[in-house]
Amino acid sequence: MPRLSLLLAWLLAPAAPLAAQAPAPSSDAAASTITAADVAGRISVIADDSMLGRDTPSRGLDQTAHYVAHQFRSFGLKPGGENGTWFQRYPITRRRLDLDGSRIVFRARNVSDTATFDRAASYSQGVVPERPVSGPTVLVGGQVSPDDVERMQLRGRIVLYAPDFSRDIPLNAVQVGRAIRLAGPKAIVIVSNLDSAAFTARVPRRAPARTGIDLRLDSPVVVEVSEAALPDVLRAAGVDLAEVRSARRPVLRELPGLGVRVEMKDSVLSRLTAPNTIGILRGTDPTLRDEYLVFSAHMDHVGITPGQTDSINNGADDDASGTAGVIELAEAFSRPGARPKRSLVFMTVSGEEKGLWGSRFFSEHPTVPLDRIVANFNIDMIGRNWPDTIVAIGKEHSDLGATLERVNAAHPELGMTAIDDRWPEERFYFRSDHYNFARKGVPILFFFNGVHEDYHQPSDELEKIDAEKESRILRLLYYLGREVANAPARPRWNPESRAEIVEEPGVP
Ligand SMILES: [Zn+2]
Repeated sequence: MPRLSLLLAWLLAPAAPLAAQAPAPSSDAAASTITAADVAGRISVIADDSMLGRDTPSRGLDQTAHYVAHQFRSFGLKPGGENGTWFQRYPITRRRLDLDGSRIVFRARNVSDTATFDRAASYSQGVVPERPVSGPTVLVGGQVSPDDVERMQLRGRIVLYAPDFSRDIPLNAVQVGRAIRLAGPKAIVIVSNLDSAAFTARVPRRAPARTGIDLRLDSPVVVEVSEAALPDVLRAAGVDLAEVRSARRPVLRELPGLGVRVEMKDSVLSRLTAPNTIGILRGTDPTLRDEYLVFSAHMDHVGITPGQTDSINNGADDDASGTAGVIELAEAFSRPGARPKRSLVFMTVSGEEKGLWGSRFFSEHPTVPLDRIVANFNIDMIGRNWPDTIVAIGKEHSDLGATLERVNAAHPELGMTAIDDRWPEERFYFRSDHYNFARKGVPILFFFNGVHEDYHQPSDELEKIDAEKESRILRLLYYLGREVANAPARPRWNPESRAEIVEEPGVP
């Protein structure tokens, strides 16, 4: 049953008095403003049915963004969005591939094969090129590693990538794909050895509409082509893909005899926008205040799932808990005497559930200089599961891990211990908004209590939140933030982690 919109009550309530007349309390008094009642109250607003599951974009999401901005203003933060506002709005475009105008043409000597997008080719990801693309072709396959890929010149080329779909996907497939993408090819053509009926069954009869953010970066288009559609041209080019797939070594070679031309057209169905909400608390130190520590959480969720008795995905844990957490931290740090030397950025992003849209957009269009961001603490799901531990992902990648352990040890009264990643195989490091900071070179920690049976279900509701436990996690984050924002030196990456995670500057 929907509650009477709590949002209105919050919006109409008078703003909390700024820096009340009371004598300046110590920082620990600021930490004590983080309470279970506040946490539960804020989650009750954000996860209310009236927010309709906070899909990106949606009216409920915009209402949430305004609620957060209203709270930030009431604490005396400064707007950190665009044009002096609290918001950074990013473009979302809905497009559909034009099947008639799209094909991939392969040529070797006098032979050519054409893969059409109604049966032999399918569009996976990346930006549909405005003009047909072609260029020197490089074949990638066999037991290839990301390091092998980095040694090969792929910029401006068409990559023909031939994994073996008849076997289990190799453990490093994601990293290999990423390495190929970052190497800057014009297009990536994945040649599939699924049998042609199975391949065709996966190609939609009508191109689906795709919704994505418009970053205007030239991230290469990725298409999949059925090998069965290319028998003549592969033979004429002297390419034996079965041999490539079974090779026990990496295969990376130029194919001067094979020409590939990717022609794709799409049309724009609609253009919309969605918000990130950003507030800044200026630091006290005349020099260090030009550096920033970012606290982030995603305010969006997955919207409505039709056909169930309760259709609204409230996302109380995912991630109203983190959004409420960012607000609570903003409140604590804006208490008199609690403001640290460096500036603090409090940011609630959207589009996380769609693929980290809001944080991706911020990382490409930052409203404060990215190289002045010393760290990002991201919070996604901290209101459920164990009452005495919280997983801190990324501890091993920078000295933030040691700092966290030191701060944690100094606060036994919290009854809360930050522990290492319990699910490295899930690669959560790459799956929430902190990753968009990390890939740009900002050291991060990611606070996360793990998933549960209500994950992405309408039953992820306020009633199941442990707000008392969350308040202790947030106090730990407060002490950690104070330490990092006041420390003379910036946090530092471990060199091997930096090499593995941070993308080369200038590469989309
Ligand atoms: Zn989440």
